[in-house]
Amino acid sequence: MTCVPASTEKKLGLVIDLDTCVGCQACVTSCKEWNTGGSMAPLTDLDPYGGSADGVWFNRVHTYEHTNEESSRTVHFPRSCLHCDQPACVTVCPTGASYKRASDGIVLVNEDLCIGCKLCSWACPYGAREFDVAVGVMKKCTLCIDRIYNENLVPEDRVPACVAACPTGARHFGDLGDPASPVSRLVAERGGVDLMPEMDYRPTNKYLPPRARSVSDGRGNAPALEPVAEGGFLGWVDRMLTR
Ligand code: SF4
Ligand code: SF4
Repeated sequence: MTCVPASTEKKLGLVIDLDTCVGCQACVTSCKEWNTGGSMAPLTDLDPYGGSADGVWFNRVHTYEHTNEESSRTVHFPRSCLHCDQPACVTVCPTGASYKRASDGIVLVNEDLCIGCKLCSWACPYGAREFDVAVGVMKKCTLCIDRIYNENLVPEDRVPACVAACPTGARHFGDLGDPASPVSRLVAERGGVDLMPEMDYRPTNKYLPPRARSVSDGRGNAPALEPVAEGGFLGWVDRMLTR
């Protein structure tokens, strides 16, 4: 069993806005690109151009359709390690390969100590661990430790690659242990939530729920299209487009 620190100086993590995420997968691909060339390299690809492509991805985006009697909406849900305060993925590790840093709260894997037993992936309720079959060790999101502390980068680039890439500003990075930090204020303003709080892993990352939609009375809707004539130019265009 591996111990976790009783407390950490910081709680670095992500705040992900489910209201503005458009599911474009930019965070997924930028994460893969950065970490394939970074300290966690390689991030193995299996059969990348075949029918059963698979591999190691630290960040994945799932898309759901939420429906009720009145309406439906599409919700995109990015998923990566949440750098939990009580991570059983660490405490089950028999070798000390999985650990949580006391300085910033980031959960990491020491690949030199990992024996590939996969206990940590069974212990993680969020499916955030990624086993790399090519090298036989477990891997996971590092919050881009080789970016956020990288003094060769300009300060504005010292954020995780996923945060830097998001075109809608749906991903935010900072210290969630500091109630005055911009990310903590954002969570307080928007009612940010923990994922699966009943598990008591106390994830650091927070999700901002989608905002309620205003209910339309129909007056603001665009007018219905006129029926298209059977013949003439418009009729021809309609027939072409409906083929
Ligand atoms: Fe561990 Fe999973 Fe929590 Fe990450 S999300 S710290 S892998 S339990
Ligand atoms: Fe969502 Fe931003 Fe990721 Fe695109 S880059 S999928 S908008 S979080």
